[in-house]
Amino acid sequence: IAPRLVAVSKTRSASDVVKVYELGQRHFGENYVQELLEKSQNKEILESCKEIRWHLIGHLQKNKVNKVVQIPNLYMVETVDSVKLANALNASCANINRPSKLKVMVQVNTSNEDNKSGCGASQAIELVSHIVNNCPKLEFAGLMTIGSFDHDLTLGPNPDFILLLKTRKELCEKLNLDEADVELSMGMSADFEHALELGSTSVRVGTSIFGCRNYNDQDTSGESAK
Ligand SMILES: *Cc1c(COP(=O)(O)O)cnc(C)c1O
Repeated sequence: IAPRLVAVSKTRSASDVVKVYELGQRHFGENYVQELLEKSQNKEILESCKEIRWHLIGHLQKNKVNKVVQIPNLYMVETVDSVKLANALNASCANINRPSKLKVMVQVNTSNEDNKSGCGASQAIELVSHIVNNCPKLEFAGLMTIGSFDHDLTLGPNPDFILLLKTRKELCEKLNLDEADVELSMGMSADFEHALELGSTSVRVGTSIFGCRNYNDQDTSGESAK
C-alpha cells in the first residue's frame, strides 16, 4: 500500500485547502482543535471538499474531546498519549453513538523533549493494549511521532524514527498484532523522504505543499506567505 500524504493546513485559509483538495489531495491535518473545528465547518470547504478527511495531529485536551468526535469528516486522531485521553474519547464516541469506530494513533515522544507531547516509548505498549482491550469505540491505527528536527543524516538514520519502528515491533510481539496493521505516522517537510525510506506509512507535510507559515499575518491567503 502506498504511504499516505497528510497535507498540514494549519494557519492556511479555507481557499488554500480547497485549492489543494482540487488537485486531488484528500487527507488534511490540523494541530489546533479550534482551527480544526472552524475549518471543518467552513462553508467553502464543506461545499467543495465533500471527501475531505481530517486528521488531528496536535495535542488534544480532555475537555475538548466532545467537540472533536463530532466533526463530520474527522478521519483520525493521531495524538492519543494517555489512558485518560483514550477513555475520554471512547466515552465521548459512545455518548454520541458514533456509527463507526474512531481511528486513533498513539503519539510517542521519541526524542524525549519537554516541549513535545506524547507518551514515552516504554508506556506506548501499555497504552495501545488499553485501547485495543478496553476502548471498543476506538480503532487503534498506529504510532505517531515528531522526533528531533535537527538530526544530522550523515550520522545515520534518525534515532527517533528507529525508536518508533522498534516500539511497533515490540508491541506487535507482545499484543500479537501484525506489523502491517500498525501504521507509522512520521516525517514532515524536512524529513519525510528519510521517514519513507525507513518505512513511514503516513507523512505530515505542510511547508513543502503550502509554503512557509506566517503566524503573525492574519491574511493567510497563501499569496502572502514567503
Ligand atoms: C506543523 C506540523 C507538521 C508539518 O510541518 P512542516 O514542517 O510544515 O511540513 C507535521 N506534523 C505536526 C505534528 C505539525 O505540528
